[in-house]
Amino acid sequence: VKFVYDFTEGNKDLKDLLGGKGANLAEMTNLGLPVPPGFTITTEACKVYLDSGDEPAALRDEVSAHLTALEKKMGKKLGQADDPLLVSVRSGAKFSMPGMMDTVLNIGLSDKSVQGLAKQAGDDRFAWDSYRRLIQMFGKTVLGVDGELFEDALEKAKDAKKVTVDTDLDADGLKKLVTKFKKIVKTEAGRDFPQDPREQMDLAIHAVFDSWNTERAKLYRRQERIPHDLGTAVNVCSMVFGNLGADSGTGVAFTRDPASGQQGVYGDYLQNAQGEDVVAGIRNTVPLADLERIDKKSYDQLMQIMETLETHYKDLCDIEFTIERGQLWMLQTRVGKRTAGAAFRIATQLVDQGLIDEAEALQRVSGAQLAQLMFPRFDEDAKVSQLGRGIAASPGAAVGKAVFDSYTAIKWSRSGEKVILIRRETNPDDLDGMIAAEGILTSRGGKTSHAAVVARGMGKTCVCGAEDLEVDTKRRRLTVNGHVVEEGDVVSIDGSTGKVYLGEVPVVPSPVVEYFEGRMHAGADDADELVQAVHRIMAFADGKRRLRVRANADNAEDALRARRFGAQGIGLCRTEHMFLGERREMVERLILADTEEEREKALKELLPLQKRDFVELFEAMDGLPVTVRLLDPPLHEFLPDITELSVRVALAESRKDHNENDLRLLQAVHRLHEQNPMLGLRGVRLGLVIPGLFTMQVRAIAEAAAERKEAKGDPRAEIMIPLVGTVQELEIVRDEAEQVIAEVERSTGVALKLALGTMIELPRAALTAGQIAEAAEFFSFGTNDLTQTVWGFSRDDVEASFFTAYLEKGIFGVSPFETIDKDGVGKLVRDAVEAGRATRPDLKLGICGEHGGDPESVHFFHEVGLDYVSCSPFRIPVARLEAGRAAS
Ligand code: ADP
Ligand code: MG
Ligand code: MG
Repeated sequence: VKFVYDFTEGNKDLKDLLGGKGANLAEMTNLGLPVPPGFTITTEACKVYLDSGDEPAALRDEVSAHLTALEKKMGKKLGQADDPLLVSVRSGAKFSMPGMMDTVLNIGLSDKSVQGLAKQAGDDRFAWDSYRRLIQMFGKTVLGVDGELFEDALEKAKDAKKVTVDTDLDADGLKKLVTKFKKIVKTEAGRDFPQDPREQMDLAIHAVFDSWNTERAKLYRRQERIPHDLGTAVNVCSMVFGNLGADSGTGVAFTRDPASGQQGVYGDYLQNAQGEDVVAGIRNTVPLADLERIDKKSYDQLMQIMETLETHYKDLCDIEFTIERGQLWMLQTRVGKRTAGAAFRIATQLVDQGLIDEAEALQRVSGAQLAQLMFPRFDEDAKVSQLGRGIAASPGAAVGKAVFDSYTAIKWSRSGEKVILIRRETNPDDLDGMIAAEGILTSRGGKTSHAAVVARGMGKTCVCGAEDLEVDTKRRRLTVNGHVVEEGDVVSIDGSTGKVYLGEVPVVPSPVVEYFEGRMHAGADDADELVQAVHRIMAFADGKRRLRVRANADNAEDALRARRFGAQGIGLCRTEHMFLGERREMVERLILADTEEEREKALKELLPLQKRDFVELFEAMDGLPVTVRLLDPPLHEFLPDITELSVRVALAESRKDHNENDLRLLQAVHRLHEQNPMLGLRGVRLGLVIPGLFTMQVRAIAEAAAERKEAKGDPRAEIMIPLVGTVQELEIVRDEAEQVIAEVERSTGVALKLALGTMIELPRAALTAGQIAEAAEFFSFGTNDLTQTVWGFSRDDVEASFFTAYLEKGIFGVSPFETIDKDGVGKLVRDAVEAGRATRPDLKLGICGEHGGDPESVHFFHEVGLDYVSCSPFRIPVARLEAGRAAS
């Protein structure tokens, strides 16, 4: 294998092998742009080094050969005493990773060659400045010396000369600083700063390899779900100098505004500076536009190059460049990060410019970005006072009074206050407080911390790891930069940016939601660019997608909203919600019924109410399918809480005040009590042991459908049986249902076409899907329960207890309740699809778990060939978009 590639040999598609930086340096080189010559050591070499503890045998020679070629091209040798070739050694993984070592500049300088450099450049100051930078960077990143020691020494040197910026230090001062820096290295690293240039280079290369496995890098990868076995490439790049005086400098630029997508001149420039000086903020940069005045020739060339890059990459690029005595050099480019809104705008702008087509535009945006745009947000024009910033863990904008413990959170929220729960970190004891709060703020922990995981599960706004905040739970306050926030003070947190504000920041609705709701029209004059862009991208997605998108909705109101958001039917109508409120008493009577008569009476009371619900729902979804799930949850959920009821009965007893009904209820509660209710008497099992329950529901559905038909409507009801494990269960319920439907047809004189199907949400159902399909006209995968039963995880318990540990240990990168576990749960789905279709080729297949609105899962469902996904009304646009992306 080949471990080293010259910049002329690579290209932008070799990111796996050359890393992002190396691949793009090669691409720019081959585009004929001015890139300082150099070469890239591959990620393969890094993997060998990390696995075996040593570099691959062939690497040394290959590096030597490439170095010799580079020396020849440049006409000087690495570290040559009278005229040294200098290089930078730069890390560069496939994905940019802040946890890793970055770059050592000026490699090749030594006590000898610094003199040669000075003479060649005719500038002593420049040479010694470069040398001190080398020792500083090398000492810190390669030899592991505390960087502050160098910073302090530099500060002292400036103080001694009574100057404030580093450029004011003269050659003499810098020379002394070099001596000081070398002493620091000797004391701290226990060795001299290496004078041999090749040793400098090799040590730096190894340091880049090693930095792949630092704790910080590992943590970053876990949080960002980057695989651990990719390794990093190393780029060796000949140096160009921005610190050669006023006609030199270094800068960063974007080919268009990463916040809005607007084309224009965006970037910063700093004269007489090297490398990171621009972003480090040590001196004030000037806007890139000023470069036109400073160095017109370089400016014009840069503008030209940016246009070349945009046209070539067909996307927004960011750029690092350096000007050495009026000569422009390109040091880096990559497709730039952008805000969610800019992603949509840029994608449509590029289509209009003819650079990309619709299918490509869909790849430039994501469901996650769309979801971000749908959250209400803080008013951008509001005056704010920012307290600090943490990690954006769960999006949204939340405002409330600061509380520092769950008890207070619950108490205050019961009395109608909005609260923000602030903790150092959360644990399972905080669960109720988190539920009560508008949002959660912690000062410790990252994206996989308890607070972050649980908040995302609840869809609650969360900012975590705001390290600047000192949270004092005992004194119920937090301190930040001298500010004190007491319990009860209002704070605002932005879960999309991680920003924390003091006081109430006004919240404005998302224009994108206004658009989906039909309150804002994409064609209207005042519709902003973002809404236009979203409108167009959604049209692209709808044009491409094969998956249909339905909603989980139980009432007409949700159904209508779902329709506005683009739902093509209801994939899950949960009927249990129709048994709550004032109907609870009827359900109690049903459960308590001793005789068949009593039971029938109770059912008869429920029937017309159920029917009304369905009539409304079918009307709202006229012409579109509505899948109604028969009753699913365990019955005790409809009975009073066991403790409350026991207390009530005991109190009554002590007052000698017998309440017969309560006593019977208590008995029933005891009788129905289960250790594992989720695995107990629920779903189809209810239908089989409680006579008349399912048939009442089927009758309500059938009568409602008949009524709608008589009213010239187009009801398309589908009856779905939950929690089936074996085809026999389904056959019994199916027979009964068919009889009822036939009766209704006879009595109303209306012909009904009601599809009967089942959920696949138990492993056994998935495993015997071929048999089950004989009795089912459709399957709807209930991936929430299927995930619970395949993993043996009780969702309500495990997410808050040990998922943090699992995520941190990398057992899974994301909760299997958030994104479908393709290898396990997904395999069952895939196999069941195949087996089901083998039995019944026209079997209709869908999914109605929460995964239906999760981007990655939607791609999976597209791939395994489902007909539709069903998700909550709010996630419908996300599902539509991702279904479109999956198909293009
Ligand atoms: P990062 O990934 O942190 O951006 P880089 O490898 O891009 O690290 O380098 C850090 C800084 O040093 C950047 O400003 C880059 O432009 C500059 N730099 C890197 N190599 C050279 C070089 N050969 N000549 C001049 N400047 C360089
Ligand atoms: Mg860089
Ligand atoms: Mg279920």
